[in-house]
Formats: sequence, structure tokens, C-alpha cells
Amino acid sequence: MTHFTGKVAVVTGAGSGIGRALSVELARRGARLAISDVDLAGLADTEALVKAAGADVRSDSLDVSQRELVLSYADSVAEQFGAVNLVFNNAGIAFTGTIEQMSFKDIDRVMDVDFWGVVNGTKAFLPHLIASGDGHVINISSIFGLFSVPTQSAYNAAKFAVRGFTESLRQEMLNEKRPVKVTCVHPGGIKTNIARNSGQVDGLDHDELAGAFDKLRAHLAPQGRRGDPQGSREEPTARADRCRCLGCSTSSCVPPALATSGSWLRSAGATVVGKCDVRAGLAVSRSAS
Ligand code: NAP
Repeated sequence: MTHFTGKVAVVTGAGSGIGRALSVELARRGARLAISDVDLAGLADTEALVKAAGADVRSDSLDVSQRELVLSYADSVAEQFGAVNLVFNNAGIAFTGTIEQMSFKDIDRVMDVDFWGVVNGTKAFLPHLIASGDGHVINISSIFGLFSVPTQSAYNAAKFAVRGFTESLRQEMLNEKRPVKVTCVHPGGIKTNIARNSGQVDGLDHDELAGAFDKLRAHLAPQGRRGDPQGSREEPTARADRCRCLGCSTSSCVPPALATSGSWLRSAGATVVGKCDVRAGLAVSRSAS
């Protein structure tokens, strides 16, 4: 997709952080928007920003883990706008605790939102993306979809699963010659509300964890960059159609906000995937301000 003017873009979890930054930038680039979230106050603020940017916008309360609601939402968006071109399955939550400490319910909740939410959004919109003749599904995984850390097992599992699901979908779309591009995004250390919105097992201090996340985020963000979800005002690189968007300091195409340091990845025992080769999807956030 070389431009966004007149394209219909769906963004879940649009009431905060990355989803808001994406929505505002898409609006600035002339997209028509369907935004949703469970945080209605945050969503209303995003809607106001998107409207101020001149976009045609529809705003809905939507819990991405509620499959039937997501299915009917997709049909309703397609009917209202006449087509759907871009779907950003962005809504997500975090939860901290060891596997010993966490209940099945805690794990289920993270999987329901972070994995099944992505599956629901992808499956619900896929027929509409195909019908548009010019579709793109962008699923937000995480740098924690590439390597695991203690106390994030459910989040790690969900984000690894998003990666597997999305990369398989990409191959299917290519094999079947479907007009749908597919991108999996792996942000690392973006300054959003995710830590403050996140849950934890009993006995852990919420504020302390949020503070620890801020420190980690600062470490993950490349030198001299703050990890803001808006990124910088550079030219977009959403033209290319690549598979995986990895935060990587060697990349010239990843939004700075999503970039992270290769040395940190190495010190965390991860395989550094080298130069990032993805310029699609979330790269649109690159020029937000
Ligand atoms: P955020 O600021 O917390 O925004 C996420 C939004 O999603 C919030 O408004 C949240 O509402 C909403 N949400 C939560 N559960 C939902 C549900 N079931 N249905 C619909 N919306 C729901 O977080 P963010 O950092 O922008 O995160 C966006 C995505 O990026 C997530 O998938 C996250 O895992 C991923 N990510 C973020 C980072 C980072 O460093 N920030 C790194 C890697 C990946 P509530 O406020 O009510 O929870």
C-alpha cells in the first residue's frame, strides 16, 4: 500500500498508546477510520484527535476477546464504509507473575486478549480484506514474541503465538495469491500506559512494576530516543511488503519508537535477526508527532 488516502483502517485498542498514535497518523494521512477499545474515555479522546485531523471516523466499544461481537463488528464496519483495507490488531494487556503464582484464569485472560483477540480480528476481517482487493493485516506481537523473560510467560506465549499465526497467514495469502499483505510487528519498549494498565499476581506491587517497566523501556529504546509511540516525523516506509517488523537499531526502516538495541537483545540471550526487513503496516506510525 503506497498511500492511505481514502483507505479504510481498523484499529483495535485505539484508546491509548500505540493504537492512538496509529489512529492519529492514519487520520493525518487521509484514511477513514474504525477505532475501538474497552477504555471508552481513552477512545473518546482518540476520536477527538482523529476528528481534529479531519478523518471520517467510527468509534465503538469492543472487547476483542468477544468473538461473536468482533465478527458482527467486522461486518458492520465493512457495510458502513463499503470496504476494509487495513486492520491493526493492536489491543493487548500485560500480566506479571511466575507460572507457579499465576492462576489458570490469569493465563486465560492474557491469551484471550493478546492471542485470541488477534485471531478474532484477523478471521473476522479477512473476507473483507480479500474483497477489498487491496488489504493489509497488521498484528502486533512484541519483542517478547521473539524471546522469553521470567514472570511474562502468558504474555510471551501469546506474543509467540501471534507471530506463528501471522507468519503462517502471510504464507497462505502469498500461496493463494490473495490481495492481502500480512505483517507481524514486534515493538520493544514503547512509552505507553501498558505497564500501568497491566495486572499482576497478589503480593507484587503495581507501581513498583510500572517503574521497573519504565526503566526497561528506557533501556530498550535506542540511544537518544524516548520510545514514544508517535515516533518521529520521518517519511513513511509503508510501501514495502515484508513479513516481520522487528525493533532493531540497525534498521533504517523501523519507526524509531519501535526500534531497540541489538546489543540488548544479545545480552538477553536472543538471536539478533539482523537488519530489519519490514517496512509495512505499523511503519505508518513513523511520522506521527
Ligand atoms: P496501552 O497503552 O495499554 O493500550 C492498549 C489499549 O488496549 C488500552 O486502551 C486497553 O484498554 C485496550 N484493551 C485492553 N484489553 C482490551 C480488549 N480486550 N479489547 C479491546 N481493547 C483492549 O498499551 P500499548 O503499549 O499501546 O499496547 C498496544 C499493543 O502493543 C499491545 O498488543 C501490546 O502488547 C503491544 N506492545 C507494546 C509494547 C510497549 O512497550 N508498550 C511492547 C511490545 C508490544 P485498558 O486501558 O482498559 O486496558
